[in-house]
Amino acid sequence: MEPTTPTPTTSNIQVGRGEPLVVIEQVNKHFGDLHVLNDINTEVNRGEVVVVIGPSGSGKSTLCRAINRLETIDSGTITIDGDVLPEEGAALAKLRADVGMVFQSFNLFAHKTVLENVTLAPIRVKKKSKKEAEARAMELLDRVGVANQASKMPSQLSGGQQQRVAIARSLAMSPKLMLMDEPTSALDPEMINEVLDVMVGLAKDGMTMIVVTHEMGFARRAADRVLFMADGKIVEEATPSDFFDNPQSDRAKDFLSKIL
Ligand code: ADP
Ligand code: MG
Repeated sequence: MEPTTPTPTTSNIQVGRGEPLVVIEQVNKHFGDLHVLNDINTEVNRGEVVVVIGPSGSGKSTLCRAINRLETIDSGTITIDGDVLPEEGAALAKLRADVGMVFQSFNLFAHKTVLENVTLAPIRVKKKSKKEAEARAMELLDRVGVANQASKMPSQLSGGQQQRVAIARSLAMSPKLMLMDEPTSALDPEMINEVLDVMVGLAKDGMTMIVVTHEMGFARRAADRVLFMADGKIVEEATPSDFFDNPQSDRAKDFLSKIL
């Protein structure tokens, strides 16, 4: 087992660590007859890294999408940094700008360079000057280890490099929260670690993260808490060591026996 001692950091992202950033209360969502989110209640504190795991179809992606309001919910509330998630309009756009989202598929703009991918939203949405946006983008591309690819087109990069660009693109908006839905699932095995290492670095810098992943090594290294979902419910919520070494429910025991 890897050590899980948090690394001290001087990053200012950690200011306010410990207060709830995301509060999810009594959230329910149906797709027709399917109760895809069933009384979901949880909080994510500032600086906390929560790993969501569970069988396929258990509602993990729907939960992530609901937090960004890419999906509506039927009942309950989701609060981000004290604001109830708005239904629509400018308030929703503003809140979305605070939430970075990284998906399984990298979703880079295919006809823009790597650098343009990272500068686009800061220039358009945050009204940054091109010069300022480019300077920040180069810092972020350097941080994820792809600064030397800045002038290339996404298709010229490996999958692992593209996903690191996607992370840099999210970070360029200075999000309060990063939502990652199976960010390494589409990658060839030899590229998974380069992306996980970037994610571990973000976690150590105090970024608040909700990460859906089957990478148990990442959960052990970086997670403060594991949420285990099954059939639209949070079945267990525990520290990684408690969850992996001592799962309580039959559902979790069964799931772990299949993946470990
Ligand atoms: P997970 O990410 O845990 O695999 P999802 O949140 O993607 O699960 O899906 C949960 C369930 O909801 C699945 O049974 C899936 O088929 C269903 N589902 C997801 N999106 C939709 C949709 N837009 N319309 C109907 N059913 C959906
Ligand atoms: Mg999913």
